[in-house]
Amino acid sequence: MINNQLYPWQQKTWLLLTADKQRMHHALLLKGQSGIGKLDFATNFAKSLLCNNPTVDHQACNICPSCGWFEQDNHPDFRQITPEQDTDKDEDTSVKGKGGKKSQISVAQIRSLSDFLSLSSHQKSGARIVLIHPAEALNNASANALLKMLEEPSAGVLFILVSHQPHKLLPTILSRCQKIDMPIPSQAESLSWMQITGIENAAERLRYAGGSPLLAASKDGEGAQMAILLKELLCGRQLNVFNAASTLIVMGMENAINALQKWTYDLMLSASINQVRYHAEYAVDLNKLSKLLMLDQYFLFQEKLVEAKKSATHPLNQELQLEALLLQYTQLFKVKNVS
Ligand SMILES: [Zn+2]
Repeated sequence: MINNQLYPWQQKTWLLLTADKQRMHHALLLKGQSGIGKLDFATNFAKSLLCNNPTVDHQACNICPSCGWFEQDNHPDFRQITPEQDTDKDEDTSVKGKGGKKSQISVAQIRSLSDFLSLSSHQKSGARIVLIHPAEALNNASANALLKMLEEPSAGVLFILVSHQPHKLLPTILSRCQKIDMPIPSQAESLSWMQITGIENAAERLRYAGGSPLLAASKDGEGAQMAILLKELLCGRQLNVFNAASTLIVMGMENAINALQKWTYDLMLSASINQVRYHAEYAVDLNKLSKLLMLDQYFLFQEKLVEAKKSATHPLNQELQLEALLLQYTQLFKVKNVS
């Protein structure tokens, strides 16, 4: 997605970064939680640096040949590296992706940059840019290949790494990057942006997305699916593992685990203080279900979820893993007393 405008909460970071272009590092790391527009920022930044005629506030002009090439994903001085299939957002591939969805950046992808780095730039500015996201998708081999490139920077080349899990990056890569903390919008900023963008139920969605406005805005297609899943989860002990697993797998491993974490978080909150944080519309049902919750099982389950999240980028047996998690979920609840 190329968004041609900075988000309101990014203006200050933009000014700081563009004010000091001369002293800019040859590698930047834009880090911060997901759903706050890091990638859009990085894309806009790359485009503006390549632009032949940037505006006074250093934004791309959107008129020059360079901007045109950029818009058509065809800029000779720009490379974007991303886990291969992740660029393909259509639903079919995510369903088919079950076991095979690419979630790593391969060493071949990084090595393919060496030609690009050894060529001279097509434009007289001399700038060339490599955008890597999410940088935590680099595996050991690809990270080491990248490290070599960062250690021997080619003139005029800027690497932009985007990450919401920077702790997963090699320390040696981290130390070669200028780190930029991407701003998190306040709730008011998020809501006002969502309302201007015409998103309904903004407050509710924002709550579910843990405060990330872009995540909240992208929930459109997922709403129906989520409703099916939550209905299953409400069955507690009687949940149909296979139905629920087939819904979860479509969401992708990481989202699936997030959904389970949010749901069980609300169960616990409801059990302890009769409140919910993410699922306001299910508050009454959640409270009923939470009365059957067994604490010891709950804590074991939380540990399992955290573990599963750590291995979420490994494509192996995701379906089996989800089924096991869901089976364990059914064990969180006492058998109802028949009275
Ligand atoms: Zn331009």
